[in-house]
Amino acid sequence: MRSTDWNDPDIKDAVEGHERFKQQFERDKAFYRSLATRKQKPRLLWIGCSDSRVVPAQITSADPGELFEIRNIANVVPPAEAADDSVGAAIEYAIGHLGVDDIVVCGHTNCGGIQALMDGARAAPDDHLGRWLSFTLPAHRLVAAARVPEPERLLKAIKAHIQFQVDNLLTYKRVREGVEAGKLGVHGWLYVMETGDLLAYDSSLGEWLPLSRRAEP
Ligand SMILES: [Zn+2]
Repeated sequence: MRSTDWNDPDIKDAVEGHERFKQQFERDKAFYRSLATRKQKPRLLWIGCSDSRVVPAQITSADPGELFEIRNIANVVPPAEAADDSVGAAIEYAIGHLGVDDIVVCGHTNCGGIQALMDGARAAPDDHLGRWLSFTLPAHRLVAAARVPEPERLLKAIKAHIQFQVDNLLTYKRVREGVEAGKLGVHGWLYVMETGDLLAYDSSLGEWLPLSRRAEP
């Protein structure tokens, strides 16, 4: 392993950013100390995309300690039987140990992870990325079967994919039991990169509704 090159501009950026964080840390020392000494008690389990442009704490104004996050390419929740221990373990831990009572699956517009297999593009089954992207196929099949016209196709696939991931959450025993007992809420949200809005899927209306009254019409 090469040691860190302090003159690398990307590393320099991170170091300078860290310097600014340390100043903030000093100002809010009591808060950060309390995080270190208390058990975490996040409000939400947030399952979002790895996309660097979509930052969960930023779009929800969450402080450290408020979101327990799973981020992966295309905000995938593999079905329980797919035996992805990374996602399954975080779900079980969030519910069983942290007492989280709401789970948000949040996708976003312009998601490259969904775009990748649009229009019948095939993923290589022999690499990690190809196998992972195959979790987006149910949404692509739905959009293809519905013959959604070109300008809306990607957005429809992104929305359908979020709904499928919420369904997949219910394949996990702890999630199913929590929802059936009325103790756990599962939510499908969409972050609209162009406007900054968050939309929530309302399953009783079959519609996506803005979370904020300030949403752009
Ligand atoms: Zn994405």
